[in-house]
Amino acid sequence: MSIQARPWLDQIDPYRPGQRTTNPVGALASNESALGVSDAVVAAVSSAAGAIHEYPSPLADELRDVLAVEHDVHPDQILVGNGSDELIYLLARAYAAHGGSVVCADPAYRVDEISAQIVDAEVVKVPLSEWRHDLATMAEVAADIAYVVNPHNPTGTVHELAAIEQFVADARSRLTVVDEAYIDFVDDPESMTAMHLAREGRAAVLRTFSKVHGLAGARIGYLVASADIVATLRKIRAPFSVSTLAQVAALAAVRHPEHRDRVRAYTRQARAELVDLLSSAGYSVVPSQANFVLVEAPAEDELVSALAARGVAVRPGSALGVPGTVRISTPNPAGMQLFRESLPRVSAAVHI
Ligand SMILES: *Cc1c(COP(=O)(O)O)cnc(C)c1O
Repeated sequence: MSIQARPWLDQIDPYRPGQRTTNPVGALASNESALGVSDAVVAAVSSAAGAIHEYPSPLADELRDVLAVEHDVHPDQILVGNGSDELIYLLARAYAAHGGSVVCADPAYRVDEISAQIVDAEVVKVPLSEWRHDLATMAEVAADIAYVVNPHNPTGTVHELAAIEQFVADARSRLTVVDEAYIDFVDDPESMTAMHLAREGRAAVLRTFSKVHGLAGARIGYLVASADIVATLRKIRAPFSVSTLAQVAALAAVRHPEHRDRVRAYTRQARAELVDLLSSAGYSVVPSQANFVLVEAPAEDELVSALAARGVAVRPGSALGVPGTVRISTPNPAGMQLFRESLPRVSAAVHI
């Protein structure tokens, strides 16, 4: 017996995850939290483990209520997902499937593209302008969904809130999704977030627990949007997609914001140090407000392998749609030390 996948699936270039390292200090390929997960989360998950014979709360009610208060929205405006990636897949299925379209930057966050290709939607990619979204050109595209990633991945660049507001006002697309996975790392998150647009139902905002909260392995994120959008996505989601342990971990993380604040402060300072090291070694670094930097590296493969030989894993730009670059996550203090020692040897061997 032989079966062929639907024809449009042949077009998909699969997601390529970051390389793992034997020593976690050199794990700079996946933008994970530099300072790991908090003790409060570990304790909460351990004590909840005895109840995993029970199904989870389908909508993560307790977490949803806490988030609703934090963002000053009705709980019906929040949908918690198995990572924000699940929510991106749901958005594509609900609003772009079978002949619909999405517009995103080029390079895009890969999941925005792949989730659309899976449902046979057209993906319109608008090249970045000086490493940032070209919002004016994107606004002219009449797609079903427009994705604005702020700060962007893989560049780390940002748009001021006024520019996002202007985009939402001008966009010919039916729905703007602002992905704020890295918003906690910008210098002043409160002045940058588009959350008020989600509150008013003018855009949808995505947040994740994977980055600043250090829960990438738990798989949990959320969408804030109009109650109508949330109701639609609820109809098509898998009912128990967010595990009990993920819900408990996220609740503990929001109840102990001091860890987030520590990670945020450390990351900003370490990012500046990382930029200094790279610039002093002669590399051009794209100005970043996220927990990673994108570095111009014509000899991308050589740089990636030279760092890998020293136990440092970084993400090759060609896996992210930007050949000739590498993306480097902000290391923890031991990782910074390893990077500081490795870089002179590596850059002596690799043509910049
Ligand atoms: C890391 C990241 C996410 C988070 O994905 P999860 O599924 O929540 O782990 C979302 N969007 C962007 C742009 C990211 O880089």
